[in-house]
Amino acid sequence: MGGGRRLCDHAGVTSFPAHARRVRDETLDPRRRRVSLRNCLHDFAPYGFPATWHHLATAHRIPRRIEADPSSLDRALDELETARALVLPRAVAFAAQRRRQKREGRRRVPATSHPWDSWGCHAIAYCPDPDKHPVEPLPVVVGRVLDAGAEEIDPAGRCLVCGDEDRRPLRACRICGVLPGGRANPL
Ligand SMILES: [Zn+2]
Repeated sequence: MGGGRRLCDHAGVTSFPAHARRVRDETLDPRRRRVSLRNCLHDFAPYGFPATWHHLATAHRIPRRIEADPSSLDRALDELETARALVLPRAVAFAAQRRRQKREGRRRVPATSHPWDSWGCHAIAYCPDPDKHPVEPLPVVVGRVLDAGAEEIDPAGRCLVCGDEDRRPLRACRICGVLPGGRANPL
């Protein structure tokens, strides 16, 4: 698999829950728990790692000295898990489809019905600038992208996240910061 494109079967189906358990483990040093939250983002980060971390840190006021408010990590994880629950059935189905096709000797990645779908579970709304991303909760944004993908809305026509119609080709949305076509930018 080339191009650094992350596919749905990389949504951390097995590793994410283990990282999440460590985030919530109050017997661990808060700094270890924060590392575990960041590890969760390696498996599932709707805006890509930097922008998703920035969103969670600001939305839940994760302090630089994490000892001051370790429970901010729980609040951030709650939001992340809710968004992940939306994409998980799709990730599992996609992984099963890949396995089936591999068994049948078809090793090529199947064409997807929608460009946003091909790496959908990781950077489903990739934001190249870590400081510029949608302000709504992750589940709202992820749900909107999934709905748009299901309806096969043309992502080149308008921003799937904020609806902005003044799109610039191959550039991140000037309103919400999401890049059409995602990190691989196949548009
Ligand atoms: Zn937008």
